[in-house]
Order: sequence, then C-alpha cells, then structure tokens
Amino acid sequence: MPSYSYRCDEGCRFDAIYPMAEVPSETECRSCGATARRGITAPHLSVAGSSAYQLIDRTARSAHEPQVVDRLPARGPGAAVQRTTQNPLHAKLPRS
Ligand SMILES: [Zn+2]
Repeated sequence: MPSYSYRCDEGCRFDAIYPMAEVPSETECRSCGATARRGITAPHLSVAGSSAYQLIDRTARSAHEPQVVDRLPARGPGAAVQRTTQNPLHAKLPRS
C-alpha cells in the first residue's frame, strides 16, 4: 500500500499508509494530536522487489563492482553452445 505524507498545524511531519481508495485528506497528528493535512505529494509506492528495481540495483552494482572473470571466453566450434546449454545434443546441431 502507498504511504502519504502529512503535516499538522504544529509543524510535525509523518507518513501514514492507507489504501488508495480510502486515503483521508485530514487525520490526527501522531505526535501532538492536532489536525494534520495531507501534503501534495505523489504516493510513495513500494518498488522494492519489482523487476525494475532489481535492474536499477544491478546496474548500480555493476558500476562499482564489475563481475570478474577468471578465464577468457571459450573459442572455436560449439563454444557458444556449451556456454548457454547443458544438453550435449545441442552441440551436434548444425552451425552457420
Ligand atoms: Zn503534530
């Protein structure tokens, strides 16, 4: 569920989580009890775990932690097939 930012009349700020259909424009402040109004912000949707988030994470990691290889890529006939499949029958397939 998305979280929404609220700010009360006393200046406290807090985030609250509501279903999108039931988000109130005003609520009680969590710290002082005054009326808190919802800020004009986009809901903070959780993207952790999504494929887009994983791609961003992987891209950022590869910038400072590149994957290290311990040997050169295999060469010669069948090299590409051996790297991508474990099935020995695939090595017998005709190649261009
Ligand atoms: Zn407050």
